[in-house]
Amino acid sequence: MSTVNLTNEDSEYMQTGDMDITYISTSSQQTELPGGAEQQTMRVYLRVRPFSKEELSDKEDQDCVGIENSQTVTLNAPKGSATMKSSEKGIGMSLHKFSFSQIFGPEIMQSELFEATVKSQMSDFVDGKNALLFSYGVTNAGKTYTIQGTPKQPGILPRVLDATFQYIGGHLYDGMDLKPYLRNDAQYLDPDQVKQEKSAKAAIFASVKEECAPLGSSGLESCSALTSNPTEADSSQFALWVAFFEIYNECVYDLLQASLGSKSKKRSSLRVCDDGAGNCYVKDLRWINIHTLGEASKVLQFGNKNRSAAATKMNQSSSRSHSIFTIKLLKIEDGTVTQISEFSLCDLAGSERCNKTKTFGERLKEAGNINNSLLILGKCLTALHNNQTEGMKNSYIPFRESKLTKLFQAVFCGKGRASMIVNINQCASTYDETLHVMKFSAVAKQVVLVIPDKPLKSLGPCLVGRDGKPLVKNGVIDTEALESFLSEEELLDEEDEANMSLAIENELANMIESLRTKLLAERKRNLVQEMEIRNEMGDAMLQQLMESEELRSRQIEKLKESFEEKLENTFEIYKDAIREHAYQSAMNNLEDDYVPVDEFIAEQDKVETLKRKVSELEGLTSSIRGLCAVPTVDQSCQTHPYKSTEAAGDDQCKHLYKEKCAIDSICEDKQQLIISLEKRLKDINVTLQNARDGYLAKSSELDDLQRKSKDQTESMEETLWQNVENDREIASLKSELAKLSQKPPVQLKPKRGLLANIRDAVTSPRKTSTSRTPRKTDRTAHP
Ligand code: ADP
Ligand code: MG
Repeated sequence: MSTVNLTNEDSEYMQTGDMDITYISTSSQQTELPGGAEQQTMRVYLRVRPFSKEELSDKEDQDCVGIENSQTVTLNAPKGSATMKSSEKGIGMSLHKFSFSQIFGPEIMQSELFEATVKSQMSDFVDGKNALLFSYGVTNAGKTYTIQGTPKQPGILPRVLDATFQYIGGHLYDGMDLKPYLRNDAQYLDPDQVKQEKSAKAAIFASVKEECAPLGSSGLESCSALTSNPTEADSSQFALWVAFFEIYNECVYDLLQASLGSKSKKRSSLRVCDDGAGNCYVKDLRWINIHTLGEASKVLQFGNKNRSAAATKMNQSSSRSHSIFTIKLLKIEDGTVTQISEFSLCDLAGSERCNKTKTFGERLKEAGNINNSLLILGKCLTALHNNQTEGMKNSYIPFRESKLTKLFQAVFCGKGRASMIVNINQCASTYDETLHVMKFSAVAKQVVLVIPDKPLKSLGPCLVGRDGKPLVKNGVIDTEALESFLSEEELLDEEDEANMSLAIENELANMIESLRTKLLAERKRNLVQEMEIRNEMGDAMLQQLMESEELRSRQIEKLKESFEEKLENTFEIYKDAIREHAYQSAMNNLEDDYVPVDEFIAEQDKVETLKRKVSELEGLTSSIRGLCAVPTVDQSCQTHPYKSTEAAGDDQCKHLYKEKCAIDSICEDKQQLIISLEKRLKDINVTLQNARDGYLAKSSELDDLQRKSKDQTESMEETLWQNVENDREIASLKSELAKLSQKPPVQLKPKRGLLANIRDAVTSPRKTSTSRTPRKTDRTAHP
């Protein structure tokens, strides 16, 4: 441990305009306000963690933190820190002085810290008032060590629980049938509900190993008893309920819900609700009734396990969430709850500002939310301070802007007492963050809380307005006292005041003036830089948008082409199949009745020659008949002079007649053949007609298919139009983006032109693509 030496090496920086800045100190001073209210500053303590062995071997010990006395600490920027660099440029200081309600060095024991910080809040708590304790600081500064501690070195939480059990003594209420409800109320549980409570508790205890309890009572040397234990004669009893939850990324998660077993299941977050009287509470938060310190230890262990499991599952560090352990003390008299008080211990997320390498997507959002809730906490404390110092000026207190401040709004507004333990390490490598922490807490510790004189005897919640200010003011803040408390003289050390001559004062005034101009210049530079960064970011985003857009349109084009090709192919296949089918069915019909043409012609020729023969023979027959008629008419002539010729003629006639008969029968046969052939011909004609009909039906089917494909192309067109619509939306978003990046008035004109150009460049290829679309679909519709 070291104190700061301003001579030798530091004098150089002193000469370049360095000076001490003392942040306003708070004392534990209390002022009686008219109306009985008690005004008290919120106590802010500082705890400086000892170096670890690794830090010492890494040469982290560079005398950065100097504890001057129990209330003042000096931060001295090490070489290489950003603070030192800017100080060398004449901006900012290399040496800072801060005051706290009390400062605890590395040697301080857990028990001493408890005695010196939370003991008075402890008395409030058992007395029916609310208490809130924050641990604030960067990761690895000792926040969790301060709140929870280790089995051998128990922290504040086990000590609060231990002190509460000590206070309760034999007055513990055994039943589990009176449970906290909403924020400030209690409810009766029926036997079934009590059973449920018991099984929930048993389930938690069953999954916790006995041996590694973090709140080992082994490490708890009994602390000095609280002042007012309930007397033996007192019939009142006490029930103790605890809850453990975390706020991560502005979502509240119950650490006592055993829902993390299944790997795929996402943690469900809980809602923060208003009980109608301005008090916020976590809806459906699990409360566990505890009877011993050991039980509380198991609950804490269960919650811690849940917390780290959730963090590991999401690949996050648990230091990014605020974890809150709340103890509710119910005072029970004659079977009814007559008083409820709560003690919340809040292990805040690491206050380090977001790392540049992690500022993407979810991480950026997360970092934003964590820093935001701490920022809102700071803002609330500042606003509270302003309201009280500037004559109750109604400046807006943004309690509702983060879950954390929303939940503890009532405590800040007088329904209890809040305190903060700021944890820092002394490492040179994290000096800048440590300085940031100190500056934040310098604001925090100026907050003045108004504590109502009369404790809230009834369970009725105090009415608090939307701005977080109590509606019922039972006291006006004594602005005069406050002003004198924060007056100029208070800002300066007594010694400084004595030594300060007029000349120095003038010199200081000049210095302030020059610093002011430097500050202005710096601010201007920062503004320009910010604008440049904004522009760069805007351009980069635009570029990215354009690229993704181009990729998308290319993909769509490809998709369209492949679709068209597929359609055409299917179409061809259908056409071929139909043609094949028509041909096949025609062939099938033909095959049955098929007569080769040659055969048909030969047959016809035969018929022709036969016909000719028949007509010849007919001619011959008629001539023969003419000849035969004479002897028939006059038979005597036949036997008379021409007897020999008559016999020869008769023979020939007979022969001819026979021949004629044979030819007649042949003719008849041929005639029948002709008839059958003609019939066949007719049949063939019918078959052909059928084939034609079949073909026509198929072609109408083909038409249907064509119509269908046309419909498909139309729907495709519609999709494309939708795309165009989307493109337009993107374009409008882009223009918004462009507007946003044009925000600085100086850059307005040229930037708008540039962005417009880029926008045109983005939109024009899209236009051509849309005009191309119908042409393509036309082609596919009418192949
Ligand atoms: P935080 O919660 O702020 O991230 P931790 O409480 O986890 O930091 O502390 C970081 C480490 O430093 C732990 O190993 C812790 O045991 C140790 N540590 C913190 N404060 C002290 C202290 N006052 N004395 C001894 N060891 C400490
Ligand atoms: Mg921690």
